[in-house]
Order: sequence, then C-alpha cells, then structure tokens
Amino acid sequence: MEYDSIMNEYDSKLFDVLAQSSNRTFFFASNMKDNTARWSKGAVEYFGLGSELLYPADIEWLKRIHPDDKGAYLKDFEDMANHVSAYHDVEYRMLNAEGDYVWVNCKGYMTYDEEGNMDFFAGFVTNLGVRNKIDPVTGLWTLHEFRKDTEELLYNNKCGAAVLIGLNNFKRINDEFGYSYGDKTLYAAAHKMLGVRTPGTRIYRMDGSDFALLLENAACEQVAREVEKMQQAFFSLEIERNQVQLDFRAGAVLFPQNGKYIDQIMSNMLIALENAKSAGGRGVSIYTEEMHLKKTRMLRLRDAMRECVNEGFKGFSIVMQPIIDSRTGKGTSCETLLRWSDERFPEIGPMEFIPVLEDTAFIIPVGKWIIEQVLKYLNEWEERGLHAIEKVHVNVSYIQLHDDDLVDFTVSKLNEYHIAPERLVLELTESCRIGRIDELTQRLQKFKDQGISIALDDFGTGYASLAVLKDIPTDIVKLDHTMIKSVVGTEKERKLIEFIISFCNNVGIIVCAEGVENTTIMGIVNEAGAGLLQGYYFDKPLRVEEFYNKYVK
Ligand code: C2E
Ligand code: CA
Ligand code: CA
Repeated sequence: MEYDSIMNEYDSKLFDVLAQSSNRTFFFASNMKDNTARWSKGAVEYFGLGSELLYPADIEWLKRIHPDDKGAYLKDFEDMANHVSAYHDVEYRMLNAEGDYVWVNCKGYMTYDEEGNMDFFAGFVTNLGVRNKIDPVTGLWTLHEFRKDTEELLYNNKCGAAVLIGLNNFKRINDEFGYSYGDKTLYAAAHKMLGVRTPGTRIYRMDGSDFALLLENAACEQVAREVEKMQQAFFSLEIERNQVQLDFRAGAVLFPQNGKYIDQIMSNMLIALENAKSAGGRGVSIYTEEMHLKKTRMLRLRDAMRECVNEGFKGFSIVMQPIIDSRTGKGTSCETLLRWSDERFPEIGPMEFIPVLEDTAFIIPVGKWIIEQVLKYLNEWEERGLHAIEKVHVNVSYIQLHDDDLVDFTVSKLNEYHIAPERLVLELTESCRIGRIDELTQRLQKFKDQGISIALDDFGTGYASLAVLKDIPTDIVKLDHTMIKSVVGTEKERKLIEFIISFCNNVGIIVCAEGVENTTIMGIVNEAGAGLLQGYYFDKPLRVEEFYNKYVK
C-alpha cells in the first residue's frame, strides 16, 4: 500500500472515517523523515492536489500558499523544528483548484524522534472560505466575519477584547491622491498589522477605513500592547516607494463584561473610538460605563439644542464681560459670551454646550443670532446717546468661518443697526488654527477688508505660537488665563509673557490679558505692557442689563 510509510492499516481506516466527518475540514498526516504526506480525498479535490500522496510534501503545499502568508507559515515550522512548540496553528490563504485564494486555518501536532528531530506530523486544515468573507482590497476578513467570530466566542462563554481601529486623515489621502492610492494605503496598513500581530489576534476590515482586532482571553494590558505594536509598525509605512504618515485611534471593548451580544459590542466599540478621537493623544481607549453615559447625555443635549434653535433660540442669551483699557482703567469694550438655560440641563456651561453646537453646525445660526443681538444692544445704547463702549468682541468658531455667508450677513447687520465695522472684534478660538493657515488667512482677510477687527483667542495654549502672527491678520492677541496665572509662578514664565507682550507691541498688535483675578496679576501684566485687561478682578460676565447699568450708562 502506498501509504505504508505514513500509517498502518488501522490508522488508515481511522483517517478515512475522520476525513468524511466534515466537508470543510481536510485531514493530513506526514512523515517528516521522507517528506511525504497523505491528504484526505476532499483536500485532493478542493485544492487540486493530483493525488492523495504528496511528495515532496513541503514544496507541493508551500507553492499553493499566498506569497504574503508564506513567512508566517514557515516561521511556525521553524518553531516546531526548534522545539518552541509542537503545536501548529496558522491561518493563511491557499490557492484552490479553481485558482482562488481561500483562507484556511491549519492545526497540527508534531512528534519527535529520540534525537529530537521532527518525525510525524498530523492535523487538519479548515476551509474558512472565500468571497464576502474576505475583503478584496486588503485580503482581510470582512465585517461579516468579525460579527460571526465574535458571536462564536460569546456563545462559547469566552472572554476577550474587540478593538476598533480608525485611521486618521484617511479621507484626505483619498481626496488628494485618489481612490486607487487609498486602496493601496489600506492594503499596506493591513499587511503591517498582519506582520506584527501576536499569533491568535484576528484582524478584520470593517466599514470604510476602519479595522478591527479580535483577541481571545485578553485584558487591558494585552490590548494596549497589541495596539502599540501596530502603531509602531505604521511609522514605517511605504506606498509606491513613498513614506506615508498614517496614524490611527483605537477603541476597545472587553467582553463579556462590556458587551454580551454582538450589537452591543459594535456600538460600544464605536463609543470607545469616538472617545479616543476626542481625547486626542495616542493609545487605545477602553470602553467604560461612564463613556456611555457621556454619550447619551451628549445625544440628549443635541436633541434639546436642536429643539431650542428651531424654537427661535429658546433659552439662549448673552452675557458681557468688561475689558479694561490699562491706560485709563476704564471698561471701554466687552466680550460677549453665550449662555443657554434649559431645565433638563441645569447649570450647563459653554464649555459643554459650545462643542455640541460646533459638532452639529448649529453654531452657524446661533453665531449669527449672537452678532445680531450684540449689534441691537449697541444700537439701543447709541440711540440713548451713550458711547462708553467702543468695541464689542464676539467669539467665532472655526466652522462659522466656513459659512460663506457670514461676511455678508455681518456687514448687512452692521448697516442695519448703524454700527461702524471698526467697533466689532471677532475672537478666534484655538480650534480656528487647526486648519490650513493660508485658507484661514484668506477667510479672515474678507472681514478685515470690511474694517472688522480680528483677535486671536487662547494664545499660549495648544499649538499657538508667535509664528502664526506673521501670517494671520491679527489686531489683538488674547493671552489665555492659564498662561496669565502662571506669571505669579516662576521668573521664566514671567519673562516669557513679558517677551510676548513686547513682541506684539512692537509689531502693532494689542495684547489683552485674560484671567486677571487679583492685584498681583494685574500689577505684573500692566507693567509688562498689556493694553487690555479682562478678568474676575474687574468683573465676571454680567447679564446685559447689569452690564448696561455698570459700564454703559
Ligand atoms: P473664552 O473665549 O476664552 O472666554 C473667556 C472665558 O473665561 C469665559 O468663560 C469667562 O467667563 C472666563 N473668565 C473671565 N474672566 C476670568 C478670570 O478672571 N478667571 C477665569 N478662570 N476665567 C475667567 P465662559 O463664559 O465659560 O466661556 C468659555 C468658553 O466658551 C469661551 O472661552 C469660548 O471659547 C466659548 N464660548 C463662550 N461663548 C461663546 C460664543 O458666543 N461663541 C463661541 N464660538 N464660543 C463661545
Ligand atoms: Ca473669547
Ligand atoms: Ca480666551
């Protein structure tokens, strides 16, 4: 019998019976010494092996493995040869008789002779399938498979982690270089991940530019390590011989504790990923109950704010905080700040609701409403013959600048209420500087051309640097209160603020020191040459009526 070298008659029968047990599983047994293998009939047909006896077994099998997966396969054999492990468990793509690559999982066990050489090797290959299971762009498992595999783990009471990986800026790659380049990027990213994954970690292509990992039996530390490895690998990404900067954020869910069924895991992964994106920084964010509460509050907040905007800006109001001219000590201008009151969200402040208005783009109509309110008040005061307030500052978010109508709207309202454009100052918050400087400058210049002034808000936080001042048309720089507070700290911090102020003064930019809370701070910033002062030491933001009584009348 031709299989003599591999198995005796009894073993051969057992082999035949096992081989019949499943049409997705193929059995093999190999004699490592003479490099022969016997494969079940199903495998012969499915992979087009020609005969049940394969010789030379290694070369005949290897030539059907996808080139990208050969490395992992050979590495596993090397480990077996070196006694690292006698267990073989590898997934790779295999060419079938029809010439399609299909994913297979190969499991086996090696025995050794007395000298420790590989002797007998047997196991089975499971056909994991083709099409809609495999993403054609990356060769990874699809979302469908992710759901199926996760459900299987849950069903078998296994614990583990599901990680959602979202590429940063992928849309920009598609927009700038086209979809085919985008596809190549996804392919390269997928293969970087495959190259560094810990054996056992499964990788999937989800919707769009998202990937997912499935780790069995993993806790927070393993998840963090796995994500870290992949992030590292992304540093050396090369596409068409170009170095590509690609980074991602990751959100993870530990199951079953934070996901008992697949849809819960899917939605919690998204929440964790969103959290990772908004938190900034690298690393993976692991889903917590608190994130969920935050998210539901945010959704409720969105609904409530939408309702209020649609009901004629119900609950919105403005407050005014005086800005003091340091030479005269008088409040000659003010900053307008938004407030919103709603019994469903008691004590909510702008730090929480402004980001919601920005995300939903409601800041565009609300921002216009604010401008109109302020101009209306100024007009009323003028009609009473009161001119104490020279300039009003209004905060403007980044996305408001993308509203092409804002300039025309502002100019028409200035005309309607007979207010000179020089009396309006737009304060640009930090987020305004995340975009492209040239585009921002262009948009701001349109306001400048109309005579409207520009203030850079929150200077000294985040990315703001003196260099932006040479590009952005700026009239006023507002030094952030966190920076101002530091002047009572070290000599170095004080020197830095003195330097910024004198630099600005030299190039004709007025500095407004925010967060002046006491006489010490006031003394220091005054001495350093700040032209404008603002802070609790003078006044908190006041209701308009109160502001009128104290500063206008
Ligand atoms: P901002 O533009 O930097 O506004 C100054 C914030 O500092 C205000 O907080 C003000 O109440 C607070 N503040 C004033 N003096 C002091 C002080 O001496 N010490 C300290 N620690 N804080 C002081 P508020 O009103 O809570 O506003 C927070 C942020 O919300 C604003 O920061 C701004 O970024 C945003 N915001 C407020 N109103 C509007 C608006 O109408 N439109 C837009 N786009 N953003 C707004
Ligand atoms: Ca401001
Ligand atoms: Ca500020």
